[in-house]
Amino acid sequence: MDAVQQRTIKAPVEFAGVGLHSGADCRVVVRAAAANAGIFFRSMDSSGPNNLIAASADNVALTDHGTSLSNGEGARVSTVEHLMAALALVGIDNAAIDVFGPETPILDGSAALFVRGLSDVGTRVQSAGRREIVIDEVLSVCDGDRSIIVEPFDGFSLDVAIEFEDCLIGRQSLSLHLDQPCDKARLAKSRTFCRLREVESLRGAGLIRGGSLENSIVVDGDRLLNPDALRDPEEFVLHKGLDLIGDLYLLGAPIRGSIRAAKPGHALNTRFALMLARYYGIALPAQDDSVLRASA
Ligand SMILES: [Zn+2]
Repeated sequence: MDAVQQRTIKAPVEFAGVGLHSGADCRVVVRAAAANAGIFFRSMDSSGPNNLIAASADNVALTDHGTSLSNGEGARVSTVEHLMAALALVGIDNAAIDVFGPETPILDGSAALFVRGLSDVGTRVQSAGRREIVIDEVLSVCDGDRSIIVEPFDGFSLDVAIEFEDCLIGRQSLSLHLDQPCDKARLAKSRTFCRLREVESLRGAGLIRGGSLENSIVVDGDRLLNPDALRDPEEFVLHKGLDLIGDLYLLGAPIRGSIRAAKPGHALNTRFALMLARYYGIALPAQDDSVLRASA
């Protein structure tokens, strides 16, 4: 097989809109970065000594209804998972993402607009070969009835299963091949969801202040509160798969292997990523301005 080269974005691309949890106006600008720089965020509102935050599982600070990153020096960015998933789906290895506001914009609750914006601008091939995490062993994490298992496979496949009391969701499972454009498109367009009974307590906890029927599916038992229909009969389980793809891209490289996830969530996804990082000796990428000085 020919070596695959790393890629970055051809030109800056901007996304703006409300933040799901903060309700604040948020904006991100995705820019090119040097080969081997990886993905990193720059918190433009941070007054700390260092506003660079590497997109690394080591930097995950919170996993409560979203994935938040912190560099340990006062800079933080929340709700990174859908943009990270889009970068993974488009195949962007290196990017600098300027963040204005506390989190990335939620847009329509899916990764479709991120994928479209990144794809429209296009990617540029870089001089270095793409790193991959080649799974050579069966590895797993579990928490009660939740689990994520990975095994060797020459490709990237994902099996996900979920189970919710609400009968509109119920039990769903699917198998996807991430090398297939149609499976990638199904993942990208799946929207975030929440259950009506959780809305009050999430708002009380200071979350989903920017949540609306424009950016989230809301389910109450067998009822869909959104005026529009589901985008896919398996949209709920697809979205859990999308979140998993985004959280795993915090490893800094795509996985070659077969993943089976039962009732995954951001906390378990992050534990799984950290376990793989330790097992394969993946180090935290540079978090200083060497990533900015290097030419792309
Ligand atoms: Zn999500």
